[in-house]
Amino acid sequence: MNTSAKACFYTLLVAAMSAFCAPLACADTHVDPSPDIDAPTVLITGANRGLGLEFARQFAAAGWRVIGTARKPDEAVELKAHQVTIMPLDVADPESVASLAASLEERAIDLLINNAGIFPRVNSIDEIDLNDYSRTLAVNTLGPVLVTRALLPNLRLGKKKTIVNISSRLGSIDLNDSGRYYGYRESKAALNMFTKTLANELRAEEFICAAIHPGWVQTDMGGKSANLTPEESINGMRAVIDRLGPEDSGTYWSYSGEQVPW
Ligand code: NAP
Repeated sequence: MNTSAKACFYTLLVAAMSAFCAPLACADTHVDPSPDIDAPTVLITGANRGLGLEFARQFAAAGWRVIGTARKPDEAVELKAHQVTIMPLDVADPESVASLAASLEERAIDLLINNAGIFPRVNSIDEIDLNDYSRTLAVNTLGPVLVTRALLPNLRLGKKKTIVNISSRLGSIDLNDSGRYYGYRESKAALNMFTKTLANELRAEEFICAAIHPGWVQTDMGGKSANLTPEESINGMRAVIDRLGPEDSGTYWSYSGEQVPW
């Protein structure tokens, strides 16, 4: 290539890269593109701490293009240490969800992980506070519904077409043997039902929709006495996700690789 052809090539390359990055740069506080343009893309909600952060770390280390969302991207200090594009998202706020979807228009997403969640401890029916109860359903159930619906066009552009809802064993009706954790249990049981219904609707398009229980994990939610580290839980969940095929759509798994009864 002669000098003027090289100059022309680089000008075009820079223009193409700016056009690709522009829609993200407006909305992001932190853009860190993956080195491999052909790598699959994962979007993880609630990626600033806990399991979401470890998902982001492991997928980035494995060479994926990672979009990690946070309610306050400026404060997502640990997430910024990894090769991740950080975007603002409050899953319980429809405007925030719409704005995320607008920023990502036309961008293919292979894997969506609905991870963000809250767990207020409510030990008896008398302790139920209706505002907290509604908030738990808004974040843990309606959040994944809103985010999934808004990003379906992106997932349709992706190759893997996979939606993973981070559920909990506490959402299993079969395994429920105590009268505790009102609100949280219902929110995850409803998330499980959403997973199955969506799997049925999207089966013809070969989507994979699955609910996964991460185990009891040492995060702010799980507490220090939990028996798993985030690394162990995410290693397990990534192995489960890796093995899923369209025939597994509408299933409920444990991080350890066994199916969980509904
Ligand atoms: P965590 O350490 O408490 O982190 C929760 C994450 O969710 C944070 O990033 C938080 O963001 C985000 N979040 C909360 N409300 C949100 C909202 N309205 N919009 C967007 N993000 C929001 O919890 P974790 O242990 O990592 O839990 C992750 C998922 O695993 C949850 O769905 C949880 O139910 C499930 N799970 C966890 C365990 C466990 O033992 N840890 C067990 C079973 C299931 P902020 O920092 O902004 O609050």
